[in-house]
Amino acid sequence: MTNAPRDLPSASAGDVTELDALVIGAGFAGLYQLLCLRDRLGLKVKALEAGGGVGGTWYWNRYPGARCDSESHVYWYTFSPELMREWEWSERYPGQAEIMRYLNFAADKFDLKRDIQFNTRVTSAHYDEAANRWRVRTEQGETYVVKFLVTAVGCLSTANVPNFPGLNDFKGDWYHTGEWPHEGVDFTGKRVGMIGTGSTGIQAAPVIAAQAKHLTVFQRTANYSVPARNVPLKPEFKQYVKRHAEDIRVTTHETLNGMGFRIEDRKAVETSAEEREKIYEAAWERGGLQFRATFQDMLVDKAANDTAANFIKRKIRTIVKDPRTAALLSDIDHPYAAKRPPIDTDYFETYNRPNVTLVDVKTAPIQAITPAGVRTAEAEYPLDIIVFATGFDAMTGPMLRMDIRGRDGLALKDVWETGPRNYLGLQIAGFPNLFTITGPGSPSVLCNMPVAIEQHADWITNCIDYMRTKGMERIEAKPDSVEKWVAEVNEVANRTLLPQAKHSWYLGANIPGKPSVFMPYAGGMVRYREICQEVAARGYEGFDLS
Ligand code: NAP
Repeated sequence: MTNAPRDLPSASAGDVTELDALVIGAGFAGLYQLLCLRDRLGLKVKALEAGGGVGGTWYWNRYPGARCDSESHVYWYTFSPELMREWEWSERYPGQAEIMRYLNFAADKFDLKRDIQFNTRVTSAHYDEAANRWRVRTEQGETYVVKFLVTAVGCLSTANVPNFPGLNDFKGDWYHTGEWPHEGVDFTGKRVGMIGTGSTGIQAAPVIAAQAKHLTVFQRTANYSVPARNVPLKPEFKQYVKRHAEDIRVTTHETLNGMGFRIEDRKAVETSAEEREKIYEAAWERGGLQFRATFQDMLVDKAANDTAANFIKRKIRTIVKDPRTAALLSDIDHPYAAKRPPIDTDYFETYNRPNVTLVDVKTAPIQAITPAGVRTAEAEYPLDIIVFATGFDAMTGPMLRMDIRGRDGLALKDVWETGPRNYLGLQIAGFPNLFTITGPGSPSVLCNMPVAIEQHADWITNCIDYMRTKGMERIEAKPDSVEKWVAEVNEVANRTLLPQAKHSWYLGANIPGKPSVFMPYAGGMVRYREICQEVAARGYEGFDLS
């Protein structure tokens, strides 16, 4: 690493700071992008971060049970062999606190914090065409004037608290899992209600139930889950990872979703029922997202998917003792893995506890939060604490909550009124020199995130470097490239079963009024990486450079 410029002064209200580039966010993506632009290109660059520390999604999501569903040996940066040698994960899946330690370790190792301004939320970013600069304003009233703007704002960072009437009158305490208090929440002796059974609710329920007097789970859409089978890592495995870190990195670049395992070549529909059962049983015992990789036709052929779905539904009915609860939990309306598939530790087992109740809010929806608790169409449930595990305004939400305006005052919210539109998920027509990391139109949430993040940050860095070498000042996606890319994103999604999960946040369906568009690129990370490389090799084909 070379060319690190001098320390930059921090700004205060009314200040105008000129920089080469600004990164918004200091999670996995923001940290690495900052490092690339500062230390590889020697740019004058800063990152602005709304949180009080690094970590992004892991800074905010401190809810009980928060843990990654990628295995630890693939959930890290791979740009630095030294960092891979120095860091050692302790469990098969890294927990929230350990990921925070890791990101702080990486940020300190590369001395990144001196160029991050924390507790700073960006409110607007307006492009000034005459000057070819972005004017970025913060909540505190500072202004940054920069040539390049990179959003590293995460896909799941805008908490969704449903607009239930009466929430303000609730006498107890309520929390959204994505904005969890740093000091934690003591559930001892409390009647807790949790709304939501996505990955978050499925992780949180067992931990809350173990502490609370009573846990009532309000389920609207039943969900699949496969055991994670988290374990402490053995010394031999840690050694293996150290010795093979580079091979593991290469594997994550060769697999469809940036994971450390490959999708099996066989088809479920061509495998005998008996053999399939054995395969699913072994995958269930092994645990984790690898369950999804047991057959190559699982996400493209409904008949194949049904075999996995029925296996999991049978498992749920075997585990959960109360037949009514088991029926509610296994009454799942979408193909397996068409929604992001959760993995869990004792989720279904939790319903066998005497202090846990499942309430079906599909047939009897939540009508209001009352001063005493939650009222559904059928009954009122008195509660001391309500946990909203109700997800996020995913992918577009973090971008649209800033007032981003491109050329001629063009507002991003207008350009994206009917759904996100961009080229390669990297640039939006009309918004020159603005790059978006792992936003809609890229594999992002369908991929192991650090793999997707490194690919994007490297591509952006190389692009800016290329522009510098050629003496170019401006890059912008061409409108027809956007048209073609949006069509491609739709087409590859429609070749899979993914759009069939109608309530999925992949489609924006969890947010009332949000356009129903499949947002991530479902063609796989390998293909996506190739496309991005080809575009760059052809002199950034599809972009206007000037
Ligand atoms: P989510 O998947 O969007 O789930 C939200 C839950 O809240 C759903 O069960 C939803 O029901 C319910 N809900 C929302 N509004 C409701 C309402 N008005 N009334 C009743 N129920 C309502 O959100 P999430 O669980 O926070 O997960 C989001 C994503 O974060 C995951 O898919 C994953 O990508 C990531 N994540 C990853 C991990 C991990 O790595 N292990 C852990 C947690 C989260 P419907 O389904 O009916 O809408």
